[in-house]
Amino acid sequence: MFIERELNNGQRTGAIEVICGSMFSGKTEELIRRIKRARIARQKIEIFKPAIDVRYSATEVVSHDENAIRSTPVENSANILLLASGIDVVGIDEAQFFDKNLVEVVIQLANQGVRVIVAGLDMDFRGQPFGPIPGLMAVADYVTKVHAVCVRCGNIAQFSHRLTEKEQVVLLGERDLYEALCRKCYNKANKGK
Ligand code: ADP
Ligand code: MG
Repeated sequence: MFIERELNNGQRTGAIEVICGSMFSGKTEELIRRIKRARIARQKIEIFKPAIDVRYSATEVVSHDENAIRSTPVENSANILLLASGIDVVGIDEAQFFDKNLVEVVIQLANQGVRVIVAGLDMDFRGQPFGPIPGLMAVADYVTKVHAVCVRCGNIAQFSHRLTEKEQVVLLGERDLYEALCRKCYNKANKGK
């Protein structure tokens, strides 16, 4: 179970926390919540996101509830290492879009005493594990899986169903292109595909 450790007694103990789930499941909200609390504890914070994700804002991480926090867009995972020196808490949103080397980067940061909080989609629209997220879940100290609400039946949803026939894995979009579905409704929607 994830228990937030907020004792700021001058000891830096590194850790890897993963927040995963489907689209609209509250990953960004949970990331922002943890970061805000670390800020109250006067820790040095930096949030990164992949440069390709400019859906709402180029320089902020924004939740679907319009909660926002400043972030630094980076081209690849190695840049995070370069930019994170002297930082206590590193947040990374939309981590599924980063290269697989992100796993090594996060381990290195944690070994240096950094608390790393990574949020990202665990599955793509086909229900396949997404980019570096499965590797991150394996090496994490804590994994939190959050859930959306199925827009068809109201049950707990863990799938991101794509509403277009386009096949590429990375297709940036929001409610126009994706909906959160439970297992039953997701399988029904994909029948015959
Ligand atoms: P994520 O980062 O996982 O995509 P966000 O943290 O940006 O999610 O947004 C979560 C918010 O999205 C919820 O608090 C709610 O206001 C809104 N929302 C929209 N559609 C849904 C849905 N189908 N299930 C749950 N929340 C939804
Ligand atoms: Mg998000």
